[in-house]
Amino acid sequence: MATQKHDDSLEKIAAEVRGCPLCKLARTRKNAVPGEGQLSAKIMFIGEAPGKSEDEKGRPFVGAAGRILDNLLQKAGIERSQVFITNVVKCRPPNNRVPEEDESAACRPYLERQIALIRPEVICILGRTAYSSVLGGGSITANRGKIVKKAGQKYFLTFHPAAAIYNKNLLSALETDLKKLSKEIKKEGKSSMEDYL
Ligand code: URA
Ligand code: SF4
Repeated sequence: MATQKHDDSLEKIAAEVRGCPLCKLARTRKNAVPGEGQLSAKIMFIGEAPGKSEDEKGRPFVGAAGRILDNLLQKAGIERSQVFITNVVKCRPPNNRVPEEDESAACRPYLERQIALIRPEVICILGRTAYSSVLGGGSITANRGKIVKKAGQKYFLTFHPAAAIYNKNLLSALETDLKKLSKEIKKEGKSSMEDYL
């Protein structure tokens, strides 16, 4: 992952993303979606790409998948305002197709800069596209609920919330996973406090 330049900021990244011409998704987007949340976020969620609602509003996870994510966060006792939420690509692919390799590659530096600034305790990977793009992973079904460490960064793997729209089994798996993620974060907080005692 990229290291942080001393004068970089989330606002600067967002402004660059909103005017970004670096891949062909720039030609079909209404609004780019840089992501949103706290610089101090302990958890960063990475989804696939903006959908129709996100493209219209310029904000991540504000449509059907977003409602599921909001619900999951609430059940896990995680405040949406305390996390950072973004996607592998910041612009909507036509008809919500999966982002292509050249698009994720062009968009990658923005994600890396966001990670370098926020330095989250855990990056929560939502679904197969983020898993393969960020970690080179394969099956999310075989690995969901797992924590993996790569280059000193902790990642937590789970399904994409949209996958639960038509599959209630995935919804309960997602609930279990986000509760586990929440516990993991609380455990981290506690152990770093204990270091002071
Ligand atoms: N799906 C995603 O992957 N990201 C969003 O922001 C919305 C839906
Ligand atoms: Fe730029 Fe990323 Fe949007 Fe492509 S998807 S135009 S690289 S911001």
